Amino acid sequence: MMNIKDFKLFRDKNYIDGKWVTADSGDTISVNNPANLKEIGTVPKCGTSETKKAIEAANKAWPDWKAKSARQRSDILRKWFDLIMNNKEELAQIMTIEQGKPINESRGEIGYGASFIEWFSEEAKRVYGDTIPDPMTDRRIVVLKQPVGVVASITPWNFPNAMITRKCAPALAVGCPVVIKPASQTPFSALALAALAEEAGFPKGTLNVITGKASEIGDELATNPIVRKLSFTGSTEIGKILLQKCSGTVKKVSMELGGHAPFIVFNDANINDAVAGAMQSKFRNTGQTCVCANRIYVQEKVHEEFCKKFIEEVSKMKVGDGLNEENSSGPMIDEHSLTKVEEHVEDAIQYGAKVAIGGSRHSLGMNFYQPTILTGVSSEAKITTEETFGPVAPIYKFKDENEVIELANNSPYGLASYFYSRDIGRIWRVAEALEYGMVGVNTGLTSKAEAPFGGIKESGLGREGSKYGVDDFLEIKYINMCGLDK
Ligand code: NAP
Repeated sequence: MMNIKDFKLFRDKNYIDGKWVTADSGDTISVNNPANLKEIGTVPKCGTSETKKAIEAANKAWPDWKAKSARQRSDILRKWFDLIMNNKEELAQIMTIEQGKPINESRGEIGYGASFIEWFSEEAKRVYGDTIPDPMTDRRIVVLKQPVGVVASITPWNFPNAMITRKCAPALAVGCPVVIKPASQTPFSALALAALAEEAGFPKGTLNVITGKASEIGDELATNPIVRKLSFTGSTEIGKILLQKCSGTVKKVSMELGGHAPFIVFNDANINDAVAGAMQSKFRNTGQTCVCANRIYVQEKVHEEFCKKFIEEVSKMKVGDGLNEENSSGPMIDEHSLTKVEEHVEDAIQYGAKVAIGGSRHSLGMNFYQPTILTGVSSEAKITTEETFGPVAPIYKFKDENEVIELANNSPYGLASYFYSRDIGRIWRVAEALEYGMVGVNTGLTSKAEAPFGGIKESGLGREGSKYGVDDFLEIKYINMCGLDK
């Protein structure tokens, strides 16, 4: 295996104002490979003063960046996209080494992450305004859309590349400079993206990456009046804290938070498709995605067949280091996540669940957990209401459509949901009744650059991707043109 430090895109400094810098104190934080717990490198442990510098650099870069034509910004974004695609393999290796996901999933994420840059390089040219008839004949109403200003972006470890590009590409496309604070467990993917942004020709200060103490950096980003927009992806718990902090300067906010996705299989579903969808939705990234199926509801008549086929598929999964092409499930990110999974499984068993497969730590030890299926899970078990964020699939039996809609909607979360049916009437009824920002019908995967990603209720605010993705980085300005008949 190649040492990560030999990669040409490996950077262990921060990128601020077009320079690669250390923390003022010289302090660093250690980053470990979750597959073997060995240190793979360190990154600067920055805090308030370095964050202020990054914000000021972004603010200085703003007038020139927004003054560029949409076409000029689009060209730089397009170059960044091309560079990412040309370096896909190296970026994927870096991701698997620091995050743990199987290498093929990392390759998929690099392509998925880059697709937002390509998409928004095109959308940059389509930030249209409006003209509106005024009630007075000598007047016109003109609506302009202008970049909001300096954008702060705080991102999680589970998608170390795509959660950054999904926010930064639309921000940069419409003329906003960005300060990115990636998760401390996966900073090298973010710094590699910055290295390619530098090569693509973003002017200094337009894109900054800072690593270090989350609370200090986060506080500065959320309270500094220069920052006009905070875009956060992470847990609902931290999202709520940031929302409060942003209220002091009334910033625009986007929040992509936790989820608790229902996955429903009706009697009329194609069961093989439903099993394939459940595998993708549940076990991708070792169950560590915000859109993972958290509750699998199967209707009585097909319950046995679905469980049998699902267990068969899970039994074929190979667990181990994601760099080995044969492995389909990697390690969990850390011991803390593993303990939560263990707790959820033990608690579900206490409430009467049966372990159909898996059910404990993997013999590989360290951060590995066996892909697990639980049947007969009680609605009172923790796993029914709390995000597990691990490779555990709880299955529940249900009788009819109304009952399952009520069960599915009984959650403070509202991010992704899925169901399988062949009945066109039911498809419309259920899709419209589910209180979720995203509904996958006969699919376990819905994310794509062309579609609006986001949640309702405690899963968040705002949408990323699609034609709507630029709106969160734009202010609407109305100009009343008067005296036109003089
Ligand atoms: P997290 O603990 O909320 O961390 C997310 C980011 O916030 C990290 O960069 C973290 O930095 C930072 N952070 C932590 N404490 C902070 C504070 N006090 N102030 C400011 N920033 C702070 O979440 P996570 O465990 O990394 O990610 C898992 C969660 O993200 C899950 O709930 C998942 O559902 C959600 N998620 C949602 C989406 C979506 O699109 N809706 C996508 C992916 C993940 P450090 O790493 O330095 O602590």
